[in-house]
Amino acid sequence: MDGNIFDIKRFALHDGPGIRTTLFMTGCPLDCLWCHNPESRVHFKENGGKSRKVDSTYVIEELKKDLVFFEESGGGVTFSGGEPLHQPEFLVAILKEMKNNMIHTALDTTGFVDRSVINDVFPYTDLFLYDLKVMDPEKHKKFTGVDNKQILDNLKFIFDNNGVVRIRFPLIPGYNDDKENISDMINFLKDLTNSPIIDLLPYHRLGISKYKKLNIDSSTEFLSPSSDDRIQEVEEMLKINGFKVGIGG
Ligand code: SF4
Repeated sequence: MDGNIFDIKRFALHDGPGIRTTLFMTGCPLDCLWCHNPESRVHFKENGGKSRKVDSTYVIEELKKDLVFFEESGGGVTFSGGEPLHQPEFLVAILKEMKNNMIHTALDTTGFVDRSVINDVFPYTDLFLYDLKVMDPEKHKKFTGVDNKQILDNLKFIFDNNGVVRIRFPLIPGYNDDKENISDMINFLKDLTNSPIIDLLPYHRLGISKYKKLNIDSSTEFLSPSSDDRIQEVEEMLKINGFKVGIGG
C-alpha cells in the first residue's frame, strides 16, 4: 500500500509519552493562516516540498527499528502531518502493524474527517493528540478554510467512546487567544465526559524560514509570538477551570 510522507523523525520527546518516532504524512484539508508545516501540504510539492511516495511495508520496517527505545521509555510512534487521516488506508495498514508489535500509537489530528475514518483508526489508536483551534464556526472557516462542526462532533464521539485524548491548542496572537474563544473552548470541553489535558502550543516563527525555502508567500510574516505574560494568563484561565495544562509539545 503506497502513501505520501515527508519525514520520519526519531527520538521525538514532545509528541506523546516516552521516546517517539514521528511519521509526518503529506496532505492536509485545512489551510490555516498560521501553518507552521507548509512542506506538509501537497500542493506545495511543485515548489520544492519534500513529499515522497513510499510503501507501507518500508515505513513499518523503519518504525520498528526503534522498538528498543519505545520499550525502554514507554514511547511509541506518533502519526503527524499535515493530517494523517487524509490517507486513511495507508495509515490503518501501518497502525495495525504497530499494534501487532505492541507499539504505542498516537495520532496528531485536526479531526476534520468523516466519522467512518475515525471508526477505522479508533481500535488501533492509543492516544489522540487532537487540535482545537477556533470555536466560532465562522472564524474557524475564515482562519482555516473549513467549518469546525465535524471536528467538534468527532471529538465528542471519541470521548463518548472512552478514547484517550490530549487537546492541542495552538495559541495564535490575534486569531484565537481572545477571552471569548478560550471561554468557549473551556465550556465545550467541560461538557465532555472527563477533563482532558490541554497542551498549549504558543505560536513560534520557525515556520517562516520554511516558507522562504519553499519560495511561497507567508501570511504569518507579520505575526509575533505571544508574550510570556499572555501565555501564563491563558494557562491560568485553563487551570482555574480544572484542566491540567502542558506548555509546548
Ligand atoms: S492543520 Fe496543521 S498542517 Fe494543516 S494547515 Fe493547519 S497548521 Fe498546517
